[in-house]
Amino acid sequence: MPSAELLLTDRKADQEEFRRQILAGVDAVLKAMNTSKAYAGMLPRDLERFLHEEVLLPEHGLGFDEVLRRTEEKILPNMLHPSSQTYMAHLHSPVLLESIVAELIIAVFNQSMDSWDQSPAATEIEVDTIRHLCRLYGFGEEADGVFTSGGSQSNLTALLLARDRFCREKLTWDVQKHGLPEQYRKLRLYTSEISHFSMEKSAHLLGLGYEAVVKVPVDAAQKMDVGELTRLVEEDVRRGNLPFCVVATEGTTDYGSIDPVPAIRKVCDRFGMLLHADAAYGSGVILSGKYAGRVAGLSLCDSLTVDFHKMFLLPISCSAILLKNGKDFRPLEYHADYLNREEDEEDGYTNLVGKSIQTTRRFDALKVWISFQVRGKDGWDKLISSGIENAAYLHERLVASPDFETTTLPEITSVVFRVRDTDEVNRKIRRALIHQCGIVIGQTVFQGHVCLKCTLLNPELTHETLDKLLAQILILRDQVKQ
Ligand SMILES: *Cc1c(COP(=O)(O)O)cnc(C)c1O
Repeated sequence: MPSAELLLTDRKADQEEFRRQILAGVDAVLKAMNTSKAYAGMLPRDLERFLHEEVLLPEHGLGFDEVLRRTEEKILPNMLHPSSQTYMAHLHSPVLLESIVAELIIAVFNQSMDSWDQSPAATEIEVDTIRHLCRLYGFGEEADGVFTSGGSQSNLTALLLARDRFCREKLTWDVQKHGLPEQYRKLRLYTSEISHFSMEKSAHLLGLGYEAVVKVPVDAAQKMDVGELTRLVEEDVRRGNLPFCVVATEGTTDYGSIDPVPAIRKVCDRFGMLLHADAAYGSGVILSGKYAGRVAGLSLCDSLTVDFHKMFLLPISCSAILLKNGKDFRPLEYHADYLNREEDEEDGYTNLVGKSIQTTRRFDALKVWISFQVRGKDGWDKLISSGIENAAYLHERLVASPDFETTTLPEITSVVFRVRDTDEVNRKIRRALIHQCGIVIGQTVFQGHVCLKCTLLNPELTHETLDKLLAQILILRDQVKQ
């Protein structure tokens, strides 16, 4: 019989020890939160030296209190703080308070979403949450979906199912059974030249290779040029290639630019292609009362990537893939005697593994279920709209200053700009912000030049913080040039 205080069970002693450890953990976290900086500033080589352990697995266990002490001393002070107002580097969000409690529940019960007998209530909650999400995005009653580990997995799933459906319907070929068809080198998918790299990675994983991804030029607003799309598809058809899918990016990673879905839909219909929306970023805009129209095109797509660990401010991981025709999930079904027997499913036991490329899977749907109800439509409208309005404000300030150049007008919450100086100066400013000021912003390249990027997901961010950031950047400009 193992000793108590090992697992959380119905034993009183376990429960008391759980409470004690959780409260000690909470105290450690709160102590580490006593800073407004996004990062304490240590350089990578110093951090590496500081965190190096001679022994990870000691002869005898050190016990929880000692290891928590070490965590507090070494790791917590050097964590990045996504909830700091001066963290604006990536589509990497602060997390809503209630979602941290949801994570505790997820960890304690450790449900696994592959089969009903590992997650009875959780399965029903995921199914119900997906049903509501399909409605929210105008996907109709035939739609279905599943939670995934992130936008990359959602995109991979969508492209796998699009490939399989195209081969089934247009080539009368069953990829699930036979593998790729003979003509597989001719399959083509179209996405803008600034789409996310999960397109290339997916094409590789799906046995199609990077050459299957046709990069469509973007216009000055960094949106897919639909005239160019049409031309490229026509050219491929002439050459005997097989266009099967277009991926519209609804919120590009750098600019938040939104590809024009209605026009792309027409091209897809004309050439018999499926239309996937990579809305890993822009999916959150649907909850803004004032700006939801910017992503109205989502309802016209055949499939949709929604990332909840970006604009929706939920902890990593949390994402979903939605399909307008839920039956298209079928190629992912596989019945195993040890897990998801058909006889059980006939009797009403839902096994979600049949829609997923994962087997063991987290109960991430709980975070959406909790935070949607906690905040409501009005609460969510404010959270999302404030980021969009902050981006518009920052852009205005940049335009008004002779020291800065801007790129595109922000459509969501990203602002890409540069200091009117060399690429080297812009690069150095970002590094100095991190290590001298504890401020973390992003960097990218626009028209061959290094640019700075602010991704404004934090709903508490103030105009004052943005004004101070611009002032700090100019101070650093003068400093790094000396
Ligand atoms: C972030 C992002 C992804 C990838 O999502 P992960 O959750 O990081 O896997 C895909 N597409 C776009 C447009 C993104 O911004």
